[in-house]
Amino acid sequence: MAEAYSSLAKPTILVVEDEAALLTLLRYNLEKQGFRVEEAADGQEALLRVAEARPDLVLLDWMLPALSGIEVCRQLRRRPGTRDLPIIMVTARTEDQDAVRALDTGADDYIAKPFVMDALLARIRALLRRSGGVATKGVLAYRDLTMDQDAHRVARGGRALHLGPTEYRLLEFFLQHPGRVFSREQLLDGVWGRDIHVEPRTVDVHIRRLRKAINGETEVDLIRTVRSAGYALDAEGH
Ligand code: CA
Repeated sequence: MAEAYSSLAKPTILVVEDEAALLTLLRYNLEKQGFRVEEAADGQEALLRVAEARPDLVLLDWMLPALSGIEVCRQLRRRPGTRDLPIIMVTARTEDQDAVRALDTGADDYIAKPFVMDALLARIRALLRRSGGVATKGVLAYRDLTMDQDAHRVARGGRALHLGPTEYRLLEFFLQHPGRVFSREQLLDGVWGRDIHVEPRTVDVHIRRLRKAINGETEVDLIRTVRSAGYALDAEGH
């Protein structure tokens, strides 16, 4: 029972799975159903891919290298930008206790491996229907800085700011992880995407532009430079 999506409203599913064969199988079946598929092979990568691909739903394996699925779920639920992101946990565990734990952590649904593909697809469609098909992006904020992702507007203390597209994405990425320090390489992955080759120094240029765009003369610098580590959206500790 294929429920085709028009190419305009193709929902994006982020599949987080460390078993390559299963990932391939999931991609094949999801694409056949009209979904756009993004992938991540471990928990850390999943968090970065969520920030850059902004999926409509995450299919999240429980047992993952780097960071477990439960921990990824917990972190996504803590962040304002992904608090309502639909998540289905996938796991080899079948105990009811684990299902409860997955749901307690904030997953919207749960399916145990091995699963029947049609059953998984039905759950994905049902969850997307519940969440209104495509997740709304909403408003991100840090201190007196706000970003309305739907209207694509940024303001500080009520004053409208004008950012170039790269500075906008950079700020959006920071707003999704306030206070966290990112290396230039992590920012390149999260903002530019890992398929694009950009010199790490390029990041410094855009950080400079972003600072100029968001910090008024008398305002606190919201970007913290962490020597030999990278940058953070952090007004403290200057
Ligand atoms: Ca696994």
